[in-house]
Amino acid sequence: MTDATSRRVREIGESPTLAISAEAKRLRAAGVDVISFGAGEPDFATAEHIVEAARAACTQPAMHRYSPTGGLPALREAIATKTARDSGLQVSPQQVIVSNGGKHALSNVFQALVEPGDEVIVPAPYWVSYPEQVTLAGGAMVTVSTTAADGYRVTPEQLEQARTPATKALVFVSPSNPTGAVYTPDQVRAIGRWAADTGIWVICDEIYEHLVYDGATFTSIPAVVEDLLPRSVVVNGVAKTFAMTGWRVGWSISPAPVAAAINRLQSHTTSHVCNIAQQAALTAIEGPMDQVERMRRTYDRRRRRVHEVLADIDDVACPLPEGAFYVFPDVRQRLRRPVGGTTVTTSVELCTLLLDEAQVALVPGEGFGAPGHVRLSYALSDDDLEKGLTRIAEVLQ
Ligand code: GLU
Repeated sequence: MTDATSRRVREIGESPTLAISAEAKRLRAAGVDVISFGAGEPDFATAEHIVEAARAACTQPAMHRYSPTGGLPALREAIATKTARDSGLQVSPQQVIVSNGGKHALSNVFQALVEPGDEVIVPAPYWVSYPEQVTLAGGAMVTVSTTAADGYRVTPEQLEQARTPATKALVFVSPSNPTGAVYTPDQVRAIGRWAADTGIWVICDEIYEHLVYDGATFTSIPAVVEDLLPRSVVVNGVAKTFAMTGWRVGWSISPAPVAAAINRLQSHTTSHVCNIAQQAALTAIEGPMDQVERMRRTYDRRRRRVHEVLADIDDVACPLPEGAFYVFPDVRQRLRRPVGGTTVTTSVELCTLLLDEAQVALVPGEGFGAPGHVRLSYALSDDDLEKGLTRIAEVLQ
């Protein structure tokens, strides 16, 4: 039978992070004791005061009805205030468009900015959905490779080499998924300066802003290079900071004409985000940050533990990341000898073997543009973390 699906959708693959997480959850439901280091999903429950706000919202008839496409006015206002506080950026609520998670916000941004033939520079390793979203928008992704030796941080010189007359935008992520790299304020300023001087757009994914360790600091590019503001888009959401992945509330903050374009686009696709989830997000953003700090400290402890165990395995190179909740070890040396008696030559095969033989789910580096690496999220319970690390060490030793 001929394939009736459109070429543009045929050309994209399923999100490997979500696929692995779904497979781990399926196996767990079937009674298999799987430990998932897969999707970056906090293991904490959403804070009670946030859940309570959602319960209260359920009882208000206004919340049962359509609301403005770009988000509840109070939420857009709170996001503008929060962005001034956390990113150091003065923005108006009209620039904020609330979408169905950071992923949807990003997808809208690419759709609104990218013309067929435009190039978008994305430093690698990169998050799995950027390439597919750029492709769906008709653009071409141009990757710039970084390595553990350079701290997985790209330089303006490397970016300049990748720039062509077709370059429309740079995707900048710090703290980074999957490497956990955090750029210093000076490095951020230098990249921002380069972007401002060359006239390209910068799409800043700030979803891991609060998850930094060892004195590393989060820096928002347009906050330190102000003349970049007319060509910057900031994307963020409540998922990682407040343990709210399932609530699906993210946003973009763009110059007014781009925000208006995203609003038009969203008005014909999803309309607004569920009002109940928006009310929960509003309470999260306006509320105290002490639980966020407690979660951050827990991730920090787990980060050091996961690094300690992996760095001790022969032929596995595991840099200590400074942000997000991922480690991204290089397993290329380890692939040169059999794993548990089996010859595996790629990180995809290694992850399949670890799932089959040790019931641990890791994400292979291929989807992040870094074959020979694996990503582990350490946003899982301490017990699971220990159990999973023991299993990994046993198989890989
Ligand atoms: N962003 C998270 C991750 O990289 C969640 C899954 C996804 O949307 O990719 O694991």
